[in-house]
Amino acid sequence: MTSSSPADLSADHSPVLYTADFLFTGMGGAQSPGGVVVSRGTVAATGHPDLLRQNYPQAQEIAVGGVIAPPPVNAHTHLDMSAYGFQALPYFRWIPEVVVAQKELRGVTAAQIGADTLAALRQPVGDIVWDPAVLEALLPREDLSGVLYLEVLGPKPEQAQERFGRLREEIDRYRRLERPSGLRLGVSPHATYTVSAPLLRLVSDYAAGEGLPMQIHVAEHPSELELFATGAGPLWEHRIPGLSPENFAEVIGRVPEPDLTPVRYLDELGVLHRRPTLVHMVNVTDEDIVRVAQAGCAVVTCPRSNQHLECGRFRWSDFAAAGIEIALGTDSVASGETLDARDELAFAQALYPQMDPRLLLRAAVKGGARVLGLKVPTIRRGEPWRKEYLWSGPA
Ligand SMILES: [Zn+2]
Repeated sequence: MTSSSPADLSADHSPVLYTADFLFTGMGGAQSPGGVVVSRGTVAATGHPDLLRQNYPQAQEIAVGGVIAPPPVNAHTHLDMSAYGFQALPYFRWIPEVVVAQKELRGVTAAQIGADTLAALRQPVGDIVWDPAVLEALLPREDLSGVLYLEVLGPKPEQAQERFGRLREEIDRYRRLERPSGLRLGVSPHATYTVSAPLLRLVSDYAAGEGLPMQIHVAEHPSELELFATGAGPLWEHRIPGLSPENFAEVIGRVPEPDLTPVRYLDELGVLHRRPTLVHMVNVTDEDIVRVAQAGCAVVTCPRSNQHLECGRFRWSDFAAAGIEIALGTDSVASGETLDARDELAFAQALYPQMDPRLLLRAAVKGGARVLGLKVPTIRRGEPWRKEYLWSGPA
């Protein structure tokens, strides 16, 4: 090990061979172990360390350990909550004791703090925006890429036209702030149970027609399954009085039944075929996974948030086996603890010891880029070397 920083070494003219436990170049699958030869600030070669040592005997080798890859993507977060303190609590305590209790901290200032964090990490973002003022603050930033999804709520069917009209106005207003290579606008109907069936249809049809990316929270807590099966349970009991209809059947425009799941509901409503990105997807049936695969929807999993709020565990290997694109998100710092997608990946690797870690790494980088509609970043010969490709620097 050397005390020189990677920047010092790339200024030197002798080539450097960085070796790591994992390499993902953005092309093909991830490899283990892997290495990159850097010469005069440019990538000269990537591949297995043995081959690189053979081809570049003059290169100075630096074992960086960990990962060499383009920065991962944080595909789902709530940046406007970045000033919140983190607290792990069961879901139905976390909402009042953390989200509501700290609501004064939510807003534009917090969103800028979160955006600064991700910009410094060079991680693209998929952010759920609750207050349009956040769009005004973040859209002009040139140091971020990804999607800002403007959130819409409205469980009462009679609100659908008004809420939809307001959403369209906001999108029209803020689209002029989009930059060609900067952040893009998207929409996010909040969840299957907080947006009425007619509003969900209006928003998803609009998003499909306008080419707007869409995210929706689905099947986060086990009680969401219970709600669609019975029309009752803790999720319904904890709703804010007055804001929802008397009966859950009014929200979804049909009678709950034992085999009805949030995913089947979205499918039969015609929303799934608009290909929204489905966030969480923890509490699902085998049939749900088939429906998602058939519709071609991608999924974002937030393992730390799901674990901290006791929502359950995403069935990663079953979704992967069905060929579904999977990305990683941190959710807000209030449940995910940090905004660094590398932390989320490390947690996922510990949570899924039976999964090939190379698949998880690929999901964090390539899955995230695909979900946000970004070009998949690559590390390839002839391109500039960037220090953020080393996920942990030399000691
Ligand atoms: Zn969320």
